[in-house]
Amino acid sequence: MNPQEPKPRLEDMTWPEARRAAQANRVVLIPVGAIEQHGPHLTVDLDNRIITWLCDETAKRRPDLVMSVPIIPYGFNTHNMGFPGTVSVEVEHLINYVADVARSFVRQGHKRIILINGHGSNSMPCALVARKIVNEHDDALAASINHWNLARDLAAKIRDTPVGGMAHACEFETSWYMHIAPDHVYPEKAVADMLAERSKQIWVDLMAGDGPVAFIDDWSRVSNGSGVEGDPATATAEKGRLYAEEEIKNLIAFCEEFQAMPVKPRRNYTARGTDPNPYYNA
Ligand SMILES: [Zn+2]
Repeated sequence: MNPQEPKPRLEDMTWPEARRAAQANRVVLIPVGAIEQHGPHLTVDLDNRIITWLCDETAKRRPDLVMSVPIIPYGFNTHNMGFPGTVSVEVEHLINYVADVARSFVRQGHKRIILINGHGSNSMPCALVARKIVNEHDDALAASINHWNLARDLAAKIRDTPVGGMAHACEFETSWYMHIAPDHVYPEKAVADMLAERSKQIWVDLMAGDGPVAFIDDWSRVSNGSGVEGDPATATAEKGRLYAEEEIKNLIAFCEEFQAMPVKPRRNYTARGTDPNPYYNA
């Protein structure tokens, strides 16, 4: 590597290099993952490996624009503790921990932070952390992305599983893993496990959004025992490659916009403030 070229990953930098990364306003990609069961055919590190790969690969292609940093490897998983190989962090701890990490980068001079979430149940905590960071700082913005949402449009075109059947250790996640970690996939052990419908208002699909009612029961009560939610049989390494490339492309496009996004000064229209408001001049 050319010594002048910016390095993609924080852990490979010296402190002067880390300082330059912040000065260059590189967008910080923080992977937030989980160690959890992914059915009998995938290893428990799936969420972590996918988002680490996605962040590192994106940073390798655009080290001028983004920097990837070490993963937060454990997530909110209390509903899944009936399965072996799963670790859970209480949601309040996760929020505070991720916020502390994100704040550190702001304190070091970074102005754009993105939490790259790899685990469904981290979605809400990550979104809350991003909002906390925005609320707390005048010159820094933070956002959160569930990585699979970056490939939603593509999934609508290439998926074989019907909507409502792609949620966990499914066609999507298995395809990703066949692409980046084929030695961690055991196709002969793959089983289809579609959750029984409990209400017309409740459904969860990774790639097509959720039903109107937010209700997540304990996994051991709803799973037939495999831990799968979906049908991994239609997964292929080629679909995984397409998903990975689509996510990188959309992530780079968003990072370009996010880096350039202006941060306006906050206004205070209350009785304590003096900002003029065109709609109120009493
Ligand atoms: Zn997963």
